[in-house]
Amino acid sequence: MREHGFKADSLLIKGARVIDPLSRLDAEWDLLLREGRIAELAPKHRIRGAAEETFDARGLVLAPGFIDMHVHLREPGQSQKETIATGTAAAAAGGFTSVCCMPNTSPVIDSQEWVRWLQQPERGARVNVFPIAAATMQSQGEALTDFPALKRAGAVGISDDGRPLLDGKLMRQALQLSSRLKLTVIQHAEDTRMTVSGSMHEGATSFRLGLRGMPGAAESAMVERDVKLAHSSGGHLHIAHLSTADALSFVRRAKRAKARVTCEVTPHHFTLTDQDIGDYDTNCKMNPPLRSAADREAILAGLADGSIDAIATDHAPHAAQEKQMEFERAPFGVTGLETALGLAISELHGKHQVPLIRIVELFTLGPARVLKLNGRGTLVPGNQADLTIFDPKRRWTFEAAASLSKSRNTPFDGWRLTGRLAMTMVSGRIVHYAL
Ligand SMILES: [Zn+2]
Repeated sequence: MREHGFKADSLLIKGARVIDPLSRLDAEWDLLLREGRIAELAPKHRIRGAAEETFDARGLVLAPGFIDMHVHLREPGQSQKETIATGTAAAAAGGFTSVCCMPNTSPVIDSQEWVRWLQQPERGARVNVFPIAAATMQSQGEALTDFPALKRAGAVGISDDGRPLLDGKLMRQALQLSSRLKLTVIQHAEDTRMTVSGSMHEGATSFRLGLRGMPGAAESAMVERDVKLAHSSGGHLHIAHLSTADALSFVRRAKRAKARVTCEVTPHHFTLTDQDIGDYDTNCKMNPPLRSAADREAILAGLADGSIDAIATDHAPHAAQEKQMEFERAPFGVTGLETALGLAISELHGKHQVPLIRIVELFTLGPARVLKLNGRGTLVPGNQADLTIFDPKRRWTFEAAASLSKSRNTPFDGWRLTGRLAMTMVSGRIVHYAL
């Protein structure tokens, strides 16, 4: 990474195409930063305050800092795969100013102590880290954790991600607490009784490859149950990495019925299908698995029409030797922080005409609303200057070998992408620069 020389307390960013989904702003505006915060935002040449330095951002899009609400930073316990320092460096390189880390670490994040540990400066995070705490003790699905205490320690959501909260009675209690505490419950929606020893989506391709399948119904059945529980309890249910058309239709129906239900999708699910597994490529093995072409079409429609709330990477790093084994034995998961922006612009904007302001919303206001991250995901004067600046037209090649993540398990190595990150700023400080 090349360092940039801005050291001043005030900076004027001039001539960018400023996109702010909250105010529906999409125009060439100027932005003044002072002491780490947004001081002023105005049409071109209309900023009143003075700045010590100026950055010419013509041709670039300036957006609120991107938020990835679903990453696995692997600390504590699995620092051979990733650390908070390397994972957040990869996040900064991908344009993310905030990441929410999942609690399925070793040990599991089920106590106030570990929630606080994740946020300590000694971890060396380059961007904001918002912990998501476990829903049940050790994510065993038996006894709920202390939600109020975890929230006080800084947890922004509750999840047993990696596995589902299978027990309906516990899920109902979790959602009732969610309603009282205004804390979102994030479900990894998989009825694991239907997916035992499955390694890919169940369909024609799994049949051809001779691999045991994971039926789409394992996801949609769990979503169907949970949206009912969310509706009756008043709790906020968020479906992680939604991947099937049927599950999306349950989410749509719940939203129409005014239940508090939201969902996210990953770049790999809107880009690839089960056929991309090709010759048993373990870098296409993740959970939920790559689905059918019809599921992907449904997700693309949901991204465009507003029924999907956020894009989240489910960045799941694994060491090379773990993925270099036969398909059925390899672990689930792919990295994703550095390719999300390029894939969103190439696939959604380039091929499916999704407007840039909608893509920005899926990376900013959408996740901020799901997790109630006040002051994030918008460009409001007074807010922390968390900014993502990118060139929407720049073509580039993603090289996994150059990734800042500790791991390389990506299906997108060598892909030509359109849309490249230029600069990531957290509280007015440049944390990645790639111009
Ligand atoms: Zn998951």
